Amino acid sequence: MAIDFEIPDEAKEVRARVRKWVHDECIPAEKRIKDKESYKTVLAELRTKARAQGLWCPFIPKEYGGMGLGPLANALVQMELGESYVGALSMNSQGPDDATMLTILTHGTEDQKERFLKPLLNGEKRVCYSMTEKAAGADATGMQTRAVKDGNENYVLNGEKWFSSAASAADLALVMAMTDPEAPRHQRYSTFIVELPNPGYRIKRDIPTMALEGPLSHIMGGGHAEIEIKDLKVPAENLLGGEGNGFNMGQHRLAYGRLRHGMHNIAMAQRALDMAAGRVTSRETFGKPLHERQAVQFMLAECATQLYIGRLMLMHIAYKAEKGLDLRQENSMAKVYLAHMVHHVVDTAIQLHGALGYSQDTPLARWYTQIRSQRLVDGPDEVHRWTVGRNVIKAFQQHGTTASMAGGDLV
Ligand SMILES: Cc1cc2nc3c(=O)[nH]c(=O)nc-3n(C[C@H](O)[C@H](O)[C@H](O)COP(=O)(O)OP(=O)(O)OC[C@H]3O[C@@H](n4cnc5c(N)ncnc54)[C@H](O)[C@@H]3O)c2cc1C
Repeated sequence: MAIDFEIPDEAKEVRARVRKWVHDECIPAEKRIKDKESYKTVLAELRTKARAQGLWCPFIPKEYGGMGLGPLANALVQMELGESYVGALSMNSQGPDDATMLTILTHGTEDQKERFLKPLLNGEKRVCYSMTEKAAGADATGMQTRAVKDGNENYVLNGEKWFSSAASAADLALVMAMTDPEAPRHQRYSTFIVELPNPGYRIKRDIPTMALEGPLSHIMGGGHAEIEIKDLKVPAENLLGGEGNGFNMGQHRLAYGRLRHGMHNIAMAQRALDMAAGRVTSRETFGKPLHERQAVQFMLAECATQLYIGRLMLMHIAYKAEKGLDLRQENSMAKVYLAHMVHHVVDTAIQLHGALGYSQDTPLARWYTQIRSQRLVDGPDEVHRWTVGRNVIKAFQQHGTTASMAGGDLV
């Protein structure tokens, strides 16, 4: 048989454990936080419990204290965790930390792993990622922050950053800065590990955004900081991955982040669709239950179809990752699709909830304002579509068909 959609038993087992974890522990914890219990207490309790059950850092190898899940099992787990806004956080796999942990794991020296990665993996510390500047976002090769070597022992950084998620809650920052302005565009930048707080890395403010502020906003990365970098001294041993490799490491890091957003979107959309179904099966208007209206059934059908496409995309990408195949085209397509999919499903759920959907008595309104950012972060829609479109044309020119860049290797 050419295509096997059967999920291995171990992956099914871990998915079932995480699903139960989210439903039995995380969703009730949301209510405790909403009822004004201290999020720090609730979160600390959740984390202790999760870790005791072996539910911790799913994608980190076992020798580093994680669950050692491969791409498929991790995708299945993340697709559950995203149902609750404390899901990923409870298992120490929240963004932006997750992708940054992977970056240090892949590129860090043994000393850097010991000093910086270990406390992150233990959940004792948080890390943020400072790449974007007012001067440069979608095209990160326009970054202006400079790093100049000061003798052999230090670099000195000057510049600015903005929209560094979770910087206000972080103990470490990975900061990208230009080390060689004369090098080819993609080799001008290096990444530095900066210990916080640090007088040279001054958080000017958490930028108010359209996302609703909640008790967990800042700790979860809902706070996005504007930063002044002034005479920031970084020891040379804190250079990560060698000079000139910052840009490539950043792209590698974003690739995981994009997928994680997509996986969480599936979970969020699934919960929103369940809520919508719950609403229409319990409410009547004009003398008829809402779920008997064909217009309503069509709305649910469209959401279910989009969720199905999204799941298939992620499963195919996980399959490619398991096999070590090139998945860049699929990753870009899925990143854009899943950001729109979740927006559509949550919007539909709000519509079917009426005024209740607009209120903050359900998670829908908060999701709605948060997920708008996904069409901007980790490469805006247009930049991914630009790349996808160029690949489509290239494939046609090379092979006389676009199939290889349109999922054609699936069948
Ligand atoms: C909630 C949130 C969290 C973030 N977290 C982080 C973080 O932790 N660390 C970090 O470093 N950055 C972070 N960012 C920044 C994010 O990565 C950038 O916003 C993103 O890269 C886009 O850059 P920009 O905002 O400067 O938009 P610009 O580069 O100014 O682009 C603006 C718009 O122009 C269009 N555009 C750009 N290029 C093209 C093109 N080639 N073709 C057609 N249209 C194009 C797109 O519509 C794009 O949205 C975050 C942003 C948000 C909103």
